[in-house]
Amino acid sequence: MNITSKKPTIVYKGRPLEYFDAIIPRIGASKTFYGTAVVRQFEVMDVFSPNQSQAISRSRDKLRSMQILAREGVGLPVTGFAHATQDIDGLIETVGGAPLVIKLLEGTQGIGVVLAETYQAAKSVIEAFRGLDANILVQEFIKEAGGADLRCFVVGNQVIAAMKRQGAKGEFRSNLHRGGNAVKIDLSPEETDTAIRAAKAMGLKVAGVDLLRSNHGPVVMEVNSSPGLEGIEKTTKVNVAGKIIEFVAQNAVEENEDRSSIKPFY
Ligand code: ADP
Ligand code: MG
Repeated sequence: MNITSKKPTIVYKGRPLEYFDAIIPRIGASKTFYGTAVVRQFEVMDVFSPNQSQAISRSRDKLRSMQILAREGVGLPVTGFAHATQDIDGLIETVGGAPLVIKLLEGTQGIGVVLAETYQAAKSVIEAFRGLDANILVQEFIKEAGGADLRCFVVGNQVIAAMKRQGAKGEFRSNLHRGGNAVKIDLSPEETDTAIRAAKAMGLKVAGVDLLRSNHGPVVMEVNSSPGLEGIEKTTKVNVAGKIIEFVAQNAVEENEDRSSIKPFY
């Protein structure tokens, strides 16, 4: 990437990339730093991207995402975060005691998400993560979700496809990577509204919003900025990739004109 002020460019295998109207970022979880830098370079070149680099960075940090969603009043599981070890009891109290869920801030595919069924288990897992200097958050366990979650695929201001993922037998995590399976579902109006508001709060025009059905309404677990296509297309028979391209084609020119109206939130 050439970061000169007059003519910023991107060179791929010796060839400058020119004449781009739009890009569709697909940034792997382990490539966030470099991937968002490349997206940012396209932004500097005034190329349209449905997901801006900053929104992608925000969505990769579970704590930061929760804080942004909370500010917008989106339904969330009761979530706690603390730094000092002596706060462990208080932290467990914050989410109403055990059972509770402990998460690494930058985990993905269900790795780094632990269900602690007792107070003692919660305490020792939190201590262990702390000992490793890992950043974690603690969450109320939504037992009534029954090991299932809802993946709502948002493009623009619409949920274009939705599926219910169910974890393997005895597994509380519904990730397909953990052996779960998926079926197409119809969302309630409240669920649709929550998914759209969550994507909007994060500033993402293409997002996979994961909801849990809790007894206090739909709660957002996470918002993915490079949501997988294969599982949702197979399950719902919706041409998701096509919908993304349609959206980008319709919006690329328009949004390039009022880019200055996009306000960053840290
Ligand atoms: P990852 O980014 O690794 O997918 P998630 O936060 O999405 O992490 O958690 C993985 C899975 O664990 C979710 O899909 C859901 O099925 C389950 N899960 C996560 N948090 C909770 C919770 N608070 N209550 C109940 N189940 C949860
Ligand atoms: Mg997940």
